[in-house]
Amino acid sequence: MADQVVRALCLSGGIRILVCNASNLAREICTLQQASATASIALSRGLAGGALMGALLKDGQRTALKFEGNGPLRKMIIEADSDGAVRGCVGNPAADLEVINEKWDVAGLIGRAGFLTVSKDLGFGGHPYQGVVQLVSSEVGEDLAYYLTDSEQTPSAVGLGATLADDGLVATCCGFLVQALPKADDGEIGKIMARIAELPALSGLLEDGGAERIIQDLFGDIPYTVLESHDIFFRCGCGQEKVERALITLGAEELRDMRTKESGAEVICEFCRKEYHLDGAELDNLIKQASERSGD
Ligand SMILES: [Zn+2]
Repeated sequence: MADQVVRALCLSGGIRILVCNASNLAREICTLQQASATASIALSRGLAGGALMGALLKDGQRTALKFEGNGPLRKMIIEADSDGAVRGCVGNPAADLEVINEKWDVAGLIGRAGFLTVSKDLGFGGHPYQGVVQLVSSEVGEDLAYYLTDSEQTPSAVGLGATLADDGLVATCCGFLVQALPKADDGEIGKIMARIAELPALSGLLEDGGAERIIQDLFGDIPYTVLESHDIFFRCGCGQEKVERALITLGAEELRDMRTKESGAEVICEFCRKEYHLDGAELDNLIKQASERSGD
């Protein structure tokens, strides 16, 4: 089954549902991050949520979700592009917690106190938009729903699910986003909320009939139409040039310090773990650029 986002709308036009299957990209990213079991579940939920948020963007836009809590995971960053590319990382991938009552302690790992920051780069050289909310449950899905409802004023429900295989790798990762549009019918909203409350495990539905099956279960007897589906995939946009630009922002002094202590600089991308090496001459060039920028 390919990773994808499917978008559907009820025939009365008031409720839209997006469902994603992000199993392959979540497995790839959690493996790259060498994430523990609980960190894999947390990151997978984040990636599914990010993929759904990315599907709300217009062409050329991108969004970033940053979860920062007081738990051992420290932070989780998810980025999604309008073309379906997703990447993500966590601050402390080795952090893990005991399973409580057969439930992953994602809230404990992220930490119950903290913030979710959502930024959106709307393209066209405009200023990025940023919204911050407090974490409400630190289970990821509820936090995203709260952000969308409170900050973007679109009443939303989000469900995210991930499972691990016996080898510890991500087996399934999927999620849904239900949004009430301005002309939503209260009766239909009530029906869907009742179905969400009784929805079986997402992974089972996904294995049973893919993303369409989850949409079917959410809408129940409400007539709807599937509008479109598109592929989602892992892509890290890092590169030598971006690494150099990031180093320049450290400033000439810090770079000089690096230059004297080491023969060069090793930079590892926190998303894809690719290593970038800069030798002494390249660092000298960056120091020159940093000095010119700050004028010292
Ligand atoms: Zn990278």
